[in-house]
Amino acid sequence: MSNMLTRRQAILAGLGSIATLGLAACGGSASSDGAAADGASKVYKIATDTTFAPFEYAETDGTYVGIDVELLAAVAADQGFEYELEPLGFDAALQAVQAGQADGVIAGMSITDERKKIFDFSEPYYDSTVCAAAKDGGDIKSLDDLKDKTVAVKTGTMSESWANSLAEKYGFTTVAFDTSDVMYQDVEAGNTACCFEDTPVMSYAISTGNVKLALIAEAEADSEFATPYGFAVNKGENAELLSMFDAGLANIKADGTYDKIVGTYVQSVA
Ligand code: GLN
Repeated sequence: MSNMLTRRQAILAGLGSIATLGLAACGGSASSDGAAADGASKVYKIATDTTFAPFEYAETDGTYVGIDVELLAAVAADQGFEYELEPLGFDAALQAVQAGQADGVIAGMSITDERKKIFDFSEPYYDSTVCAAAKDGGDIKSLDDLKDKTVAVKTGTMSESWANSLAEKYGFTTVAFDTSDVMYQDVEAGNTACCFEDTPVMSYAISTGNVKLALIAEAEADSEFATPYGFAVNKGENAELLSMFDAGLANIKADGTYDKIVGTYVQSVA
């Protein structure tokens, strides 16, 4: 456990300035009604997941870090807008945007045709797919081993949809969790036979030693479950925020900031 923390801290070493940037972005003078009459800029509320490393997760002091967190900070700095990051959990974040309680969501959110009916998405910013993972060294080695078993899924996610599409064929039932970390713990404890998750997130958790799980299956690369992540706003709303996100994303891709942010997390683990 302490070894694990040490390693995670090592991965995060050097990110202090970025964490501070995230906090600074939250420190803007909030106006009561968003766009203030005196022309002060609006402080956007951006909802995110709570535990979804390497995209968003809390350091031990509660500061949020991760690829999404840093991309948002870089885009906001590039475009000159202010925001508050609200780690609500994945399903809750999507609901907050739909209810008008948040202006946008960045949460490793897969761009899907179904979601496009209720959200407007930015350009894709990260390729992803979904997988299943079971206890490392355990009896569950493939989807064929899941007959009559209960598996863990995360509420409202793409990987939950993938699990549901396989349930009848492989003869398993699902139990849903709100957060990835609690879902992994359930599999490690032996309560559920495996969990379904996004591959970049599951692979990161395994490679950092944070969980003792191993991949047992992955969706086909050309399937409907292998779609990239996007930043999203409620359909037809916050068009200005969305276009700033796209413009900022293009700029930080062009100047190397995007690669630097992603590389910090991915290469540190490799
Ligand atoms: N990418 C997945 C989805 O959009 C999961 C996102 C998450 O759990 N934060 O459904």
